[in-house]
Amino acid sequence: MEFRDLKRQYQAIKDDIDSKIHEVIEQTNFIQGKQVADLEKQLADYVGVKHCVACANGTDALQLALMTWGIGKGDAVFVPDFTFFSSGEAVSAVNAVPVFVDIEPDTYNIDCNSLETLIQGVIQEGRLQPKAIVAVDLFGQPADYERVRKVAEKYHMLLLEDAAQGFGGRIGEKRACSFGDIATTSFFPAKPFGCYGDGGAVFTDNEEWAQLLRSYRVHGKGSSKYDNVRIGMNSRLDTLQAAVLLAKFPVFIEKELDRMQHIAADYTQQLKDVVHTPYIKEEIYSSWAQYTIQLPDKTVRDGLRAYLKEQGIPSAVYYQKPMHRQEAFAGNKYDDRDYPATNRLSETVLSLPFHPYMEVEEISLVVNAVRKYLRG
Ligand SMILES: *Cc1c(COP(=O)(O)O)cnc(C)c1O
Repeated sequence: MEFRDLKRQYQAIKDDIDSKIHEVIEQTNFIQGKQVADLEKQLADYVGVKHCVACANGTDALQLALMTWGIGKGDAVFVPDFTFFSSGEAVSAVNAVPVFVDIEPDTYNIDCNSLETLIQGVIQEGRLQPKAIVAVDLFGQPADYERVRKVAEKYHMLLLEDAAQGFGGRIGEKRACSFGDIATTSFFPAKPFGCYGDGGAVFTDNEEWAQLLRSYRVHGKGSSKYDNVRIGMNSRLDTLQAAVLLAKFPVFIEKELDRMQHIAADYTQQLKDVVHTPYIKEEIYSSWAQYTIQLPDKTVRDGLRAYLKEQGIPSAVYYQKPMHRQEAFAGNKYDDRDYPATNRLSETVLSLPFHPYMEVEEISLVVNAVRKYLRG
């Protein structure tokens, strides 16, 4: 069994993917080909924002957003403590300081109480300027944007939505990648909407920012690539990857997203009496980047993980180490007591095999193994 079976997805839409890849090769428009512009237009329309700027990966997407806002030395950017490294890395990469924030233990997303406490702490200390909040749509569930937005407004801060795992999700009718002043996503193969290599995108309604993003993405270009008006990056989405995404997009929005809702519901139905299953808020539609359960403690979690492995069932721990404990951020000072939820969850979460092509029998296999282990 695969943790996320990308081969089955390929088999399902092989003809279209193959022909779109061949088209790029025959046209030899490998860099910034028409497919990239087509994809940007389709994704912006789907998300419901004016601009989509594709780039090389989800990490660059975050950095491009921060560069566009001129965030740098002396600035504090608030980031959830429980996330993939990039969410904080991009902040340090522009020489700002990531201030890690605890999360809600049920949704895994940024905790607005912890957020406000930490913002006030930074203001009181007076060393750094609070500039932006990065809210992550962890495991596919959009963060609580109503509350996060209120905090951002109260302290005059910008809101960056890291929807690397959230593309395809929504709150009510509003889609992920439309909640931040700028939002980013990743097309890393294992993300909900992935390509066949690295890829990413930035979304915004702001015309001026969109222009800056397009400049930063290609060496800070002015009127042309050889007219350079600022220090930028080389961060384009390959035309080949855009072609793969164009082939996958209809299947993703018409079939895969719904299938994932069913698979998650099946899992939950069969596991909820023995284990803490994912909690998705009422009005939320998740893009199900992961199906993550919580165990009572580390011993049970690690025991279950080892047992599943013996049964040939892969599982993963997202995330083993809270951001504030990462050595790379050791230059900043964090108080371990500020992170009770992250500290506990890093020892108790386990993500189970999950993808839109899972068969009922496979779900049963996983469910039975989990139940058997926990029942004793
Ligand atoms: C994967 C991921 C990223 C980084 O995306 P890449 O395309 O791998 O650079 C950023 N943030 C979160 C939350 C992610 O899961």
